Amino acid sequence: MAGARTSSSSFDIKILESDNGRIRFEVSGINPAIANAIRRATYSEVYVMAIEYVDIVKNTSALYNELLAHRIGLIPLTFDPLRYTPREKCDCKGEGCMKCQVKLVLKKKGPCVVYARDLESTNPDVRPVYGGEIIVKLLDGQEIELEAVAILDKADRHARWQSAVVGYQYYPVIESEELDGNANASKLCPKGALEIKDGKAVVKDPYLCDLCGLCEERSNGKIKVVGDPSRIIFNIESVCGLTPAQIVLSAINGIRERLQEFENQFKAQLKK
Ligand SMILES: [Zn+2]
Repeated sequence: MAGARTSSSSFDIKILESDNGRIRFEVSGINPAIANAIRRATYSEVYVMAIEYVDIVKNTSALYNELLAHRIGLIPLTFDPLRYTPREKCDCKGEGCMKCQVKLVLKKKGPCVVYARDLESTNPDVRPVYGGEIIVKLLDGQEIELEAVAILDKADRHARWQSAVVGYQYYPVIESEELDGNANASKLCPKGALEIKDGKAVVKDPYLCDLCGLCEERSNGKIKVVGDPSRIIFNIESVCGLTPAQIVLSAINGIRERLQEFENQFKAQLKK
């Protein structure tokens, strides 16, 4: 494939954009197996803080207890990843302590709108990431009072512990025959990824191309777009209290720990 590298070549990583909510980066010298392992590890290896259960003391709102608890459970929470331990690895042996769980309290009386930011945390580093999510509207005289307990866990148990939405795509490689004289780049590619040079289509901005194939259709097959599986663009959006960079590093660390354990056990078995 044009521009493809062998899987033995070393990585070359370029950060395209990065902030607290999203990171985009391009990796050359990768292959789909590694890219997919990283994507899957953001679901199966990254510990995230979320509410595990809710004790409802009083609820005279229009929402059933189950619905109220479900809405509260899906609120993303900030947390310091170095401060907390997953409950199954904690010294308290799963009983629940300061190191492995955080209590949040919600007490409101109507008329008012109850927002995620109304949850009062017993540890200031654990609080709703955004705060503006509406939990319930209370009419005059309606009340809710509840205690919620947040713990670290992973998305393979429940979606409320999902760390990120991760997508990746292959880098576009374009091959073009001589186009008609009236060919128009913005009509061939409304996303603006193409331009025409010396009568042929070339990539103007590879990051705008999502390999949709519209240019192939509109040029009657004179343009061919293929993805290069050795050059992959990642797009990672955080949906938890970690930054996207922390999520990537935590996913890689999870893979490393699993492989280390695999190697240790495999070697031990060979010695038997
Ligand atoms: Zn504990």
